[in-house]
Amino acid sequence: MSNSPKQYALALHGGAGPVAGRNYDAVEAHLEKLARHCETLLSGGRSALDVVEIAVAELEACGLYVAGRGSAANTAGYVELDASIMDGTTRMAGGVAAIRDFVHPIRVARGVMEKTSHVLLAGTGAGAFARSHGFEEVADPDNYYTVPVGVTADEMRDSHAHGTVGAVALDQSGALAAGTSTGGTFGKLEGRVGDTPLIGPGTWCDDHVAISCTGTGEHIIRAGGAVSIACAYRSGVPLDKAIHDMLDEVARLGGDAGIIAVDHNGRIATLYNSDGMKRASLSSQQPLQVKTFT
Ligand code: ASP
Repeated sequence: MSNSPKQYALALHGGAGPVAGRNYDAVEAHLEKLARHCETLLSGGRSALDVVEIAVAELEACGLYVAGRGSAANTAGYVELDASIMDGTTRMAGGVAAIRDFVHPIRVARGVMEKTSHVLLAGTGAGAFARSHGFEEVADPDNYYTVPVGVTADEMRDSHAHGTVGAVALDQSGALAAGTSTGGTFGKLEGRVGDTPLIGPGTWCDDHVAISCTGTGEHIIRAGGAVSIACAYRSGVPLDKAIHDMLDEVARLGGDAGIIAVDHNGRIATLYNSDGMKRASLSSQQPLQVKTFT
């Protein structure tokens, strides 16, 4: 397939943490609506970077997923959020780790990318940066965060369940972008940072492929994560095989994960070795698909 100028592609995920037997209808309806909105933007010529940011910002704010509003407190009793974004054309990237009480961590991550010479800001420094640039703060943290779909309040306190959101896109100019955002794992220690805000493990984008990961972050980091898939792909390994190899390594180390990827030809991959992965995908060649389990 050649990369025609009018080609576009999109994949979204709502995390690789769904539990078999639970109902994710509300999530699937939301992903469907959001994917259609993103398609309108991409077919209208909006950049992959903008669409990824818009998609992840909506996934953060809706409260249906373990990211942004749907995040749980750490063991110290407050919510810390992680996010990152990367532009394949410029290879510019930004992330925030363990940031508190901003509505759209992904927008702050883009701010780090565009307004600083750094790639990652963490903790109070990330918060101070976000505040000084006027990013929207959570007005009432005690009443903002909510229990996402498919998770019980008990699980949010002390299980090792997890969730994340992410988006990857190819736009009509041939540019790729990727973004990921999470509240992390439930019951995490104060200051714990997983793969999601890290450019390389959790999010990667170059001029060949855009990748967003979800799953047990410690295992994803130790398996090499998104950039290891991209390196294998650039060296000629087919995209699905490169993803399966990384997922196999995560499993070998004791974790599970899910991957969404879009390559420069508009080819989409949504693969996981967890019970399921909430996901939606479409392209100028492929009609919308929305699924949680197989
Ligand atoms: N990767 C995320 C983390 O470890 C969690 C997830 O994707 O479900 O923070």
